[in-house]
Amino acid sequence: MRKSDSSDIDHEETNLTSSSGWKLRSSKLARNTHNRIREIVETLKLEPNPDKPMIPLSIGDPTIFGNLVAADETINAIKRAIESGKYNGYAASTGHEEARKAIVKYVAHQGPVTPNDIIICSGCSSALEMCILTLADVGQNILVPRPGFCLYNTLCEGLGIEVRYYNLLPEKEWEVDLEHMESLIDTHTSCILINNPSNPCGSVFSKSHLQKILKVAEKYFLPIIADEIYEHFVFTGSKHISISSLSKDVPILSCGGLTKRFLVPGWRTGWIVIHDREHRLKDVICGLKQMAARILGSNTLVQGALPEILCNTPQSYFDGVLDILSQNAKCAFDVLKAIVGLNPILPKGAMYMMVGIDIDDFPSFKNDLEFVQDLVHEQSVFCLPGSCFELPNYFRIVLTVPYEMILEACSRISEFCEKHHKNSGLINYSVIQQINS
Ligand SMILES: *Cc1c(COP(=O)(O)O)cnc(C)c1O
Repeated sequence: MRKSDSSDIDHEETNLTSSSGWKLRSSKLARNTHNRIREIVETLKLEPNPDKPMIPLSIGDPTIFGNLVAADETINAIKRAIESGKYNGYAASTGHEEARKAIVKYVAHQGPVTPNDIIICSGCSSALEMCILTLADVGQNILVPRPGFCLYNTLCEGLGIEVRYYNLLPEKEWEVDLEHMESLIDTHTSCILINNPSNPCGSVFSKSHLQKILKVAEKYFLPIIADEIYEHFVFTGSKHISISSLSKDVPILSCGGLTKRFLVPGWRTGWIVIHDREHRLKDVICGLKQMAARILGSNTLVQGALPEILCNTPQSYFDGVLDILSQNAKCAFDVLKAIVGLNPILPKGAMYMMVGIDIDDFPSFKNDLEFVQDLVHEQSVFCLPGSCFELPNYFRIVLTVPYEMILEACSRISEFCEKHHKNSGLINYSVIQQINS
């Protein structure tokens, strides 16, 4: 955990005791809240090659390239919600009943729930924040994946909730190292957070693996927060199973939302689905509802549109988006796996792929940070370094860019690696490409 600079307010002059009048500082929470991606990216010198147009394979917003757009059904639903004039007022802080009913239907595969088990939030991140803050106190810890989405750390750190990272195993398609997970648990552990399908790995857990995770949670009486924002975001041949559908005993808070699947990240609509079949969460549910009241609920216009959005968006729309992503994944994987010194791991879902770097094969670079920095400088391709996800010597690429762009980016990465590999000149790349294809 990061130590704050000089955060103990008791030892400082306050506004009232200050002799110099105005002396304003942000709170300890604000000062100790950090976004790891932003902090790392700010330390990099990102100067693109002026002769090559920039290709950002770093941006997690799928809408910015224009190749992926929200469904007509989604857009029409929000227009109708506006025009109805019915959704300008406050809703209950957990959300409009009709919207919660629609979510109950939408998540039926997760297990039996009622509208009372749904809390509508301002994006999935706010759902995660509410779950973490309701389950964990200062001084407690929470288990999160490495590599993983840096928001979990951002939400906890400033509050003095310790984040403990359990390893995901690249050689086992990013399954959880269960022994390692178990070794991190102590009497101060409040919950286990899993992210399935995963950002940044694109992995999708099997049924038997989810059952093993549940066993660990059951053994230590720990609830699970399931970040399932990429639910249904799986490529042909894989299947997403909600951990809640397998749980008999372990209470699960599943966090989801419209953001990724419906391609409307700016609409800030997410939800918590409370799965508590054995009624272990009575106090927690009460706490979650109190937390929901802190911001008087989420955007009601989207709530008004939610029943139509969830019900009317056709399967063909989702299939179209997944086709684009899986085609990009396959293309990037094929090109990158032919590059000596890189080890891409084929994703089964979500919108990302992790690529391992045999860093000792590239003597010009000490680590992933230097690697991605020079890749920008020479080839104008920007990928987030693995360090942003607590796993050095990897980089993450996003698969939501147009096909030609991903092809061009991968060919530039190839040229870059060829130039910097320690055996550069000795390897015949065209032969390797043929062998691999
Ligand atoms: C994008 C993302 C979120 C945040 O979703 P919002 O609805 O935009 O808040 C949460 N978790 C993961 C793993 C994500 O990639």
